[in-house]
Amino acid sequence: MPSTELRQTVLTTARSVVVKIGTQLLTSENGDTPSLDAAFIRQIAKQVAQLRKDGRRVTLVSSGAVGAGCVSLGIEKRPTDLAELQAVAAIGQRQLMTEWHKAFSRYKLSVGQVVLTRTDFDDRVRFLNIRNCVNKLHELGSVPILNENDAVAVDELRFGDNDLLAAMTTNALRADALLLLTTVDGLLDENGKLIDLIDDMSTYQGLTRAGSSKWGRGGMSTKLEAAKLVMDAGEVSVIASGLEDNIVTRVLAGEKLGTVCLPAGRKMDSRQRWIALTARPSGTIGIDDGACKAICDKHKSLLASGVTQITGRFDRGDILLVRSETGKELARGLTNYSAEELRLIMGKRSSQFQKLLGNAAYDEVIHRDNLVVLG
Ligand code: GLU
Repeated sequence: MPSTELRQTVLTTARSVVVKIGTQLLTSENGDTPSLDAAFIRQIAKQVAQLRKDGRRVTLVSSGAVGAGCVSLGIEKRPTDLAELQAVAAIGQRQLMTEWHKAFSRYKLSVGQVVLTRTDFDDRVRFLNIRNCVNKLHELGSVPILNENDAVAVDELRFGDNDLLAAMTTNALRADALLLLTTVDGLLDENGKLIDLIDDMSTYQGLTRAGSSKWGRGGMSTKLEAAKLVMDAGEVSVIASGLEDNIVTRVLAGEKLGTVCLPAGRKMDSRQRWIALTARPSGTIGIDDGACKAICDKHKSLLASGVTQITGRFDRGDILLVRSETGKELARGLTNYSAEELRLIMGKRSSQFQKLLGNAAYDEVIHRDNLVVLG
């Protein structure tokens, strides 16, 4: 199908959509004191309510907790002290949800708050529970509103920005589309012209700078990173301006707005999404050319005989990143052996495992069913 037609089809048929809204859109500098922009929030609520009537499920990822908290406390800069940032977010999150609650009550819709940290996505059971909870909120006639749990998140627990949280949520829910709303029209080329369609992300990564707003985090480069996670899962993402009227309903009606990042091909199932795109690997292994051909071209399991390098500490059942001899990321999968065990059997045949380990539970280091080869 030609790209323009594919764009139209995937967006107009999307039933479940995640919409991420950045801090800059949610806060208003108008008036004497800047505050949460109630008019903007009402605008979004109106569109979400309309889409629900049309049978489409919208899950919101709302930033703005830190911004709202700072404003109400009269703090002029995003705090750098972790405890202060957490406390400010705790105050702002409540204010943020109050605004969303007010806006949605006009349409007789309740809101459900879900706050998450990075580790919630690393754990398979929690990953599945995110989907169960959000789906149930929809069934109960409520609008799920997600944010990072800034009040407890410290560096190793953080997403860093809500773009990645939104992309991982899209993948966890197996939603059909992610819409990242920002204050620019989309990704612009060197001449400032909008790039309206992306089907291969590698071509565009050089075009962006890291950057963030006064209160929030993220910028165009994290938006592209987030869009790529969704493309790799086989779904569509759109980066568009939240300053446009009725942007959510118009994008989902297939209007030519924003930068649309098309699905990279196959749709991954939930388990593949978790292994390949979500959970953080506990270790890395290097493999030789023979093993590389076996897993990538012949879709076979990974055997110890092909393992040439091991980095990190990991246990059975952990996720490993598999690299080629030149360092290229080839695959991710669940290991049958711990790092200690693997060090004893790397480069060896499975007939030798019994002697080397005292047991030989598995012939494969990563079984093909637990291995996802990366695009
Ligand atoms: N979670 C942060 C907040 O609510 C925003 C993170 C971001 O800007 O992406 O303030």
